[in-house]
Amino acid sequence: MVFNIGIDLGTTNSAMAVYDDESESVQMVENFSGDPTTPSVVQVLEDDVIVGKDALANQERYPDRTLARTKRDMGSDTTYEIDGTEYPPQRVAGYILQKLKEDAEESEFGDDVDGAVITVPYYFGGSARQATEDAGTKFADLSVFRLMNEPTAACYAYGYQEESDETLFVYDLGGGTFDATLVEVTEDEIDVIDSNGDDELGGENFDDELYEFAREELIDRGASDPNESKHTKATLREKVKETKEQLSGREDAAIAYQADDFYEVELSRSEFHDLTQDLVDKTISLTEELFDDGDYEVDDIDNVLLVGGSTRMHHVQDAVEEFFGMEPSTDTNPDQVVAKGAALEAAQYDPEGGNLPTQSITDILSHSLGVETHNDDGPNQFDPILEKGADLPNRETKPYGNPDETEQNLIVNVIQGEADEANHEDNEELGRFVLEDVPGDTKLNVEFYVKEDATLDVTAEAENRDIEGGINISDGIGLTQEEAGRIKEETQDYTSKAVQRREADAETDD
Ligand code: AMP
Repeated sequence: MVFNIGIDLGTTNSAMAVYDDESESVQMVENFSGDPTTPSVVQVLEDDVIVGKDALANQERYPDRTLARTKRDMGSDTTYEIDGTEYPPQRVAGYILQKLKEDAEESEFGDDVDGAVITVPYYFGGSARQATEDAGTKFADLSVFRLMNEPTAACYAYGYQEESDETLFVYDLGGGTFDATLVEVTEDEIDVIDSNGDDELGGENFDDELYEFAREELIDRGASDPNESKHTKATLREKVKETKEQLSGREDAAIAYQADDFYEVELSRSEFHDLTQDLVDKTISLTEELFDDGDYEVDDIDNVLLVGGSTRMHHVQDAVEEFFGMEPSTDTNPDQVVAKGAALEAAQYDPEGGNLPTQSITDILSHSLGVETHNDDGPNQFDPILEKGADLPNRETKPYGNPDETEQNLIVNVIQGEADEANHEDNEELGRFVLEDVPGDTKLNVEFYVKEDATLDVTAEAENRDIEGGINISDGIGLTQEEAGRIKEETQDYTSKAVQRREADAETDD
């Protein structure tokens, strides 16, 4: 049987879910080991690629061959080199998606995954979104129906479950990103009102603080600096993460570290909170900004949803409760609700889908989109065509002129961000195209069409002249078809190895 899945492709863990027609409910799809989540860790060995729990378990053994937390680099130029081969983040994500797809195909829900809806942080920009789509389509042989923002997916799953009209606040703190989102949920609609966030703030930052604390403590006690080798660094990092997670369940814990000697760095929950309270405060400031424009008051919020593994930390829960003056909802599982929302959306693409949920979704644009404009008196400017917060999908056209009197080639440089100066470090160039031989007095109409999943088409046309050009933003970023083709061949090689290994395991089990 062919079926569709929803995938939460997380920084630390990934999860998948399916809408089950028979039971008319959303179910988590367990991986091959029987777990509802799969660590987003990839290990490139000499003759094999390992993904998930086994890769995580062996990361201290193979620190140079282990790729973790790569979601943070999605859409950037970063690549990781192993045995002389370059691995861009979308390729790493491709391995994870491929493993999820294979595991889903072994599950009780069907034999063949037709396609998927993949979630991304609301705050992901255009290139990170495109890289995520490439990971599915170019590397994992997976049709990606659409990308969906994580908080929106969470609300979709919540709205489906609760069936009530509410103004929700979604506090989503995962491994690598933070999103704060205001959403109106009615019986018919999920309407995203506003969102704010930081794509470099998550559980990993808490680990960083705790790592530095432990490192100093260990050096004080006479241990050699854990930063001196990749192996000890990976060991301490993993121990620190374990201890952080333990402190959500108990008042005291110890970071057990074995290197030249055995050490135990004891730590209380309140000490951990002191070390990391600044990070929590930062999330509350970003939350507060959502209420700055006065359209919504904190009192308008009917319910607060916690999403992401990092919301298990007590000082996070306390800060959210204090800010909103109410206890967050406990009706949803923070590790599963995003994948479940994506599964509901994926079910919409199932031609045989029976009793599907009927809420429509109105999402919004997370960053302004526009073009670079020429400026005689200073640096070139960013001219937004679609503003941050605009409803999706959306289409807007703006006229521009050739800044010069003479005929010339004009570059349309597509930019995303909020800074006035086009080439400001806070802005991102998404792509560019050239219109050739544009006469001096020509009016150009530049159209931006941003689809419901925030991917973008830009076209420019000269009025009354036969000059036009355009770009689907995927053409300008990510990998060339040739690169993707070559890498995909190697990826398929990995599939066959993974399948062989699985078959061999099955034979041994028999
Ligand atoms: P997610 O991306 O939603 O899977 O969140 C992963 C992040 O949640 C990682 O940084 C984990 O260390 C963190 N996390 C998971 N469980 C806990 C816990 N019990 N206490 C604190 N942090 C946790």
